[in-house]
Amino acid sequence: MKHYLILLALLPFAASAQYAGEYGTADTTLFQILQRPDGYYLSTEHYGNIRMIPEGGGRFTLDRVKPVAIVDFDTNSTGQVTRMLVHQAGRFTWIKDTLSASLLGSYHQDIDASLHILIHQDGEQLKMETKNLDQLKRDKYRVLDDTYTFQRDRNGQVERLLIDRIGEQVYLPRKSQGLQPALRMHAPDRHLGFTRADTLEGAPLPARTCYDVLFYDLDVALDPSQRSVQGRNRIRFRAVRDFDSLQLDLYANLRIDRILYQGHELTYHREYNAVYVDFPSTVSQGTLGELDVQYHGKPILPDPSVLQGGILWLHDTLGNPWAESVCQGTGGSLWWPGKDLLSDKPDSMRITLTAPAGLTAISNGRLLSTHKMPDGRSRFEWYVSYPILNYNVVFYLGDYVHFSDKRIDYYCLPYSLDKAKTVFGGAPAMMDLYERDFGPYPFAGDGFKLVEAPYPMEHQSAVSPGPITPLPGGTYDQAEVIRTLWHESAHEWWGNSVSCADFADLWIHEAFATYTEVLAYTAFSGDKAAADYLRAQVPVNKEPIIGVYNVNYFYLGDMYSKGCLLLNTLRHAIHNDSLFFGALRGIQSQWRFRSITTEDLIRSFNAFTGKDYTCVFDQYLRHTALPVLEWSLQDRRFRYRWQADVPGFQMPIRINLGPVLLSATSEWQALNLPESASPEDLRVDTDEFYVRTVHN
Ligand SMILES: [Zn+2]
Repeated sequence: MKHYLILLALLPFAASAQYAGEYGTADTTLFQILQRPDGYYLSTEHYGNIRMIPEGGGRFTLDRVKPVAIVDFDTNSTGQVTRMLVHQAGRFTWIKDTLSASLLGSYHQDIDASLHILIHQDGEQLKMETKNLDQLKRDKYRVLDDTYTFQRDRNGQVERLLIDRIGEQVYLPRKSQGLQPALRMHAPDRHLGFTRADTLEGAPLPARTCYDVLFYDLDVALDPSQRSVQGRNRIRFRAVRDFDSLQLDLYANLRIDRILYQGHELTYHREYNAVYVDFPSTVSQGTLGELDVQYHGKPILPDPSVLQGGILWLHDTLGNPWAESVCQGTGGSLWWPGKDLLSDKPDSMRITLTAPAGLTAISNGRLLSTHKMPDGRSRFEWYVSYPILNYNVVFYLGDYVHFSDKRIDYYCLPYSLDKAKTVFGGAPAMMDLYERDFGPYPFAGDGFKLVEAPYPMEHQSAVSPGPITPLPGGTYDQAEVIRTLWHESAHEWWGNSVSCADFADLWIHEAFATYTEVLAYTAFSGDKAAADYLRAQVPVNKEPIIGVYNVNYFYLGDMYSKGCLLLNTLRHAIHNDSLFFGALRGIQSQWRFRSITTEDLIRSFNAFTGKDYTCVFDQYLRHTALPVLEWSLQDRRFRYRWQADVPGFQMPIRINLGPVLLSATSEWQALNLPESASPEDLRVDTDEFYVRTVHN
């Protein structure tokens, strides 16, 4: 919270124009300007919050918006905004997700396929989101000051939409329509600081730790045509101590219909994405209870520019709906209510999904039943018999086909079947490798599924390597899909079974999953491929790997590349693979299904290897600089020591002349090179040890 306070203190106290408020045309609110401790944000339901970088004199540029967009506020003599001007000249190309003769449907932007717009019809009126399309001639429309031109292929199918913007759009301040507050204040980071909304998401606050979730019974109907969900979650809990109120999490844009407890409707209030549920009387410690939360709404859409998750509502290349929930970092509460905290997994979970006619809905765990409803929709009942992280709970919705072998179920789109058999062909051997190195597959009772989906993710027992047939405009690299499959599947051990209790320790997932790719390269492609992949890991070394605790700080940084190189360095410093992999299996078995901290992991690693590597972990995880091996050579006498941020740093290192490993410390040591060695050939092994060296 320190940064937050500093930023507040830096805000000018002098009266200045207030730009915050709602803006739009004379009759429709289109977006909001939010004022936050770190500045202004332009907020739309669709794009989320865009930071406004002040240029002075009431002018701002919109962060990361292409083509460059300039915002000007005109104010009157009393400082009130009279109008807002957005200057953004250029042409935007949107590709239709599904070819058809109709203009209606979803389109994605050519330069960023994650951005979607929807052309829909309201009575006779064509609309883009809330804006009207006014026809100029066939396939040409005016929308505010933009010109929309729909282009067709030679068969008359609409394939793209060109939006020409001639420069300036004028928006007027509007009386507040009471738009929902922003879902996320901004993409928080160490420099911008964190907010109360971040704390509510990330901290184990008393209103969350007062109860332990035992079981979720989630039942959701999916409607891709409306991009909406409707359902309920019955939350079974045990009171850890007495309480009158508890915190649940559900994104502020989703509506709560009611919350029931013992047949009575409870009152609640909401703050950002937190929901405080009030009980009529104290719930005493040890009580087993069940809340029934009924809700509906349109979940947010993903925005990769700020690592925001959401629901990907797409169409496959045949035009059938294809959707996936992607929640890591943002939280499962973007589409279902629960306790969205990494440190409290339910012991088990049932996920019942209702899908439109003809589509299959896949989730985690075992398929218990399918049931066709009178209206043609189908219900798919899935059961997870293990603890599961909130963001791992998934729905995949599509026109799926299924095949299987002895231990793995595979799902793909029908036209991907041949390719899927190739891509998934190595999966059984991959599972054998992982079981050898990490121990038994943790979720054997739930089976293991691989699912073709729009976005790769380690969803527990239902892992996705991404699309197997690329979407229009997408590229495809089969080796890359297989590498992704190795990575996401490794998370079943590192991430899904042994999980971090806070995203600050997310390296526990990503470092091990990335290093697992190296192990898979070694096993399936050979040593050279593994060495090449290690060499391709290039950390930035600008911020420590370990993030900020208790604010749901989802920051990826160096945890993949540097985390992977740390593990490789440790393995070679230990120089005993049975000890190294024994420690990995030991950690897996000790912490199975639990959420742990970096300290927990280091303590176990030290115990299983019988040696204290704390200073090595600390240097690589908590500092930006690498340890430096300082060395000199005089008259065949090799002198060496470590310099590092961690006092008393020590770690074995290898040179090509002399003994296998030198036990280097922060103190100078010396070694006489053997008679046979030519001193000019001396090399420190910086291939297997990710360190810096300084030759004096
Ligand atoms: Zn990963």
